[in-house]
Amino acid sequence: MSDSGARPSLFERIATREIPARIVLETERVIAFHDIAPKAPVHVVVTPKAGDYRDVVELAAGDPGLLAELVAAAHEVADSLADGQFRLVFNTGPDAGQTVFHVHAHVLGGGLEETSLG
Ligand code: IMP
Repeated sequence: MSDSGARPSLFERIATREIPARIVLETERVIAFHDIAPKAPVHVVVTPKAGDYRDVVELAAGDPGLLAELVAAAHEVADSLADGQFRLVFNTGPDAGQTVFHVHAHVLGGGLEETSLG
């Protein structure tokens, strides 16, 4: 949980197992689970367990090492589920489709349109 006194985010509640999810990878600071509404044959959300950062811009400024851990976790997920090939998407802001304001990456793979970005 963040130290701001705010309620734990959806993804913090998944990390503490309060909300069930299909977890595929977990490290000390990062957790990855299948998206509940997949947009690709492989669609996994990779996120810090703690909800200290709203989006990737805040995370890059505040803890670039943790951002690198997210990318490494995404690579590991793609290695095991999508032949190591993947698209990494950070929706940033509501107008860009962000709905959960706890930084996370979408790992998309398993056969994507050649030209589509989303
Ligand atoms: P955003 O739209 O980039 O913020 O991504 C949030 C993602 O979380 C969406 O793709 C949702 O489908 C996904 N999501 C919402 N609730 C759950 C859940 O309980 N388990 C797994 N994924 C979820």
